[in-house]
Amino acid sequence: MIEVQNLVKYYGDAPAVSGISFSVQPGEVVGLLGPNGAGKSTTQRILTGYIPFTSGLVKTAGIPVREDPLAARQQIGYLSENNPLYESLGVWECLELYCGFRHIPVEERQKRIDTVTAQCALEDVVSKDVSELSKGYRQRLGLALAILHDPAILILDEPTSSLDPIQQKEVRRLILALKQKKTVLLSTHILSEAQKLCDRIYIIHQGKIIAQGTVEELESQAKNDFVFYIRLKGPQKEIMPALQALPGLKKAEYSDEKEPGCPGFLITSHTDLRLPLFEMSSKRTWPIMELKQQSATLDDIFHSLTEKQMKQLDFEP
Ligand code: ADP
Repeated sequence: MIEVQNLVKYYGDAPAVSGISFSVQPGEVVGLLGPNGAGKSTTQRILTGYIPFTSGLVKTAGIPVREDPLAARQQIGYLSENNPLYESLGVWECLELYCGFRHIPVEERQKRIDTVTAQCALEDVVSKDVSELSKGYRQRLGLALAILHDPAILILDEPTSSLDPIQQKEVRRLILALKQKKTVLLSTHILSEAQKLCDRIYIIHQGKIIAQGTVEELESQAKNDFVFYIRLKGPQKEIMPALQALPGLKKAEYSDEKEPGCPGFLITSHTDLRLPLFEMSSKRTWPIMELKQQSATLDDIFHSLTEKQMKQLDFEP
C-alpha cells in the first residue's frame, strides 16, 4: 500500500506540494486528479524516491521512502509521463536490458519477458525496433518495463494523455487487468479518465487536496447544485448578462446555437432557477425554446472547487 502524511515539497522557495495526506490500499486504483501544475507529478516522483521532499511521511509497501529509498523503489513500477525509451534497441533487447537493471537472474529473464509481453499484449511487436512502435505500443512497452520486476505498487503519470481514443481504451483495459494484483496510483488531468479507471479520487489543486472520495461520493457532493440547459429566442449578447444577474447563479456558459437566433446556455446555481428563468424570459420577451434540468456531474464539482484553473483542464465528452 501507499501512505502519505503531511507531505510538503518546496522547489527553492516555491511550494509545489503543501501538506497532502492520502493512502492507497492493495487492489485499488486511486487517481490524483488536478490541473497542470497542481503537484501530481511531484508527488509521484517523491513516492518513487526520484526526488527528495521537504517534510512529511511517505511509505510504500510499508517502507519509509526517505530512510530506505532503494528497498522502496524495488516495490514500485513507475511509468513517467514522457515514457522515455531506448530508441536504438529492439523491443526484446529493451526488456532484457531492464531485466538487468532490475537484477532479475539471467535464467529467469525470458520467463519474465514472456509474462509481461502477454500481460501488455506486446506479442506482435516483440521482434520489432522500439523506434518503429506506435504511441499505443510505446505506452504498453512502458507499462511492461514498469511491471517487469513484478512490483506491488504501480505509479502511472498521465498514462493515456498522449494517446488516441482507441489506444486509450487499450491502455485502460491493461491497467484494470493489472489492478487485480497491484496497488495503483495514477495521475490525470482528464476527468473522464479518472471516472473510468479509479475506485477513489483525490482532487489536487495548487499542492493541496481539496476533495476526495469515490466517484459516486464526489458526484453526490455536486448534486447540491442545480444544473440547467436553456435555449432562448433572443440576442446572445444580452441574454448572457441577464442570466448572470439571476439570484443564486454560480456559473453561466454559452453552449450552442442549434437554431439561428436561439442560443443555448448551461447554467449552474445554488437554487432552483426555473421560476426566475420564466420571469426573465417573459419580462424581456425572449421565449424559452428549451429548458432541461440536468444532473450535476463531477465536472461541476471540479468547477466549483477549482474555478479559475478550469481553463487548463481537458474534458472529454
Ligand atoms: P502536475 O504534475 O500536477 O502538472 P507538477 O508536480 O509538475 O504538477 O508541478 C507542481 C509545481 O511545481 C508547478 O508550479 C511546477 O511549475 C513546479 N515544478 C515542478 N517541477 C519543478 C522543478 N524541477 N523545479 C522547479 N519547480 C518545479
